[in-house]
Amino acid sequence: MIVDCHAHFEPRMLDLDGLVARLDAAGVDRVALIPTMNDPLPETPERLLAVLRRVMNSPARPLARLIHRATLTRGGDLRLGGEVYRIYRQPDNGPVAEVLKAHPDRFWGWIFLNPAADPDVLETLERWREVPGFIGVKLHPHWHDYSVDVLGPVLRRCEELGLPVLIHLGFRGDFVAMAQAHPKLPILSAHAGFPFYRALWRYKADCPNLYVDLSSPYIDEELARQAVAAMGPERCLYGTDAPYGFHDEDGGYDYGEIRRWVERLPVSSSAMEGIFGGTFVGLVGA
Ligand SMILES: [Zn+2]
Repeated sequence: MIVDCHAHFEPRMLDLDGLVARLDAAGVDRVALIPTMNDPLPETPERLLAVLRRVMNSPARPLARLIHRATLTRGGDLRLGGEVYRIYRQPDNGPVAEVLKAHPDRFWGWIFLNPAADPDVLETLERWREVPGFIGVKLHPHWHDYSVDVLGPVLRRCEELGLPVLIHLGFRGDFVAMAQAHPKLPILSAHAGFPFYRALWRYKADCPNLYVDLSSPYIDEELARQAVAAMGPERCLYGTDAPYGFHDEDGGYDYGEIRRWVERLPVSSSAMEGIFGGTFVGLVGA
């Protein structure tokens, strides 16, 4: 079984029928979908990504923080190459709820919450968790630009409800204290712990509830291998970040790239089954 624990529903790039056809062709059994949080972005050049990966995994990481600040506008949108792309302060969970209704056997959903912009964030959580198929909460303190220190009430409720959290960490706040304050809550750090990478992996033993996904060109095969070596395969999950990132010749999403990274990992077949979905299915209690 193959489960993609990190993909985005972005019908402006890949509509639902196209997505299902690609999943069929790639043999991906299930996908946990994230509601859209931004205008479609131009492709980030691979050369820039390679520089970012190197900078963030080195003592020069503060430089990456400065680059990040320079790309956020005062209004909280993204400025790239002279253009401004909107970041949605309160991403709409509705379109993913529709997908869950239409394809309950194919998709799960992440409930997107932003405690920095939603004064009723706990009510928002209660409303969407009623929809069958929403299995956890997505948080993006990096682009929504808040400190993880404000997440206490949301994480406490997720812990009570048994809803795992997928979080794209930013530079603000103490992620170790966050994980340790909610020991029964599985916390999935997106993109192998971006923007910390090895500076997050070293807390493996201190934070037994911390996992990483292996999604997106924010990492490459070498970083994926390092993450698995540091965290252990049992704390690493297959994810793609589709439809962003790796494209095939016809411009659609290429499900082969990250999958080959995982298939080439020096781990046992049962460890690989865990990465490809077994571990995630256990976390969501499905
Ligand atoms: Zn993503």
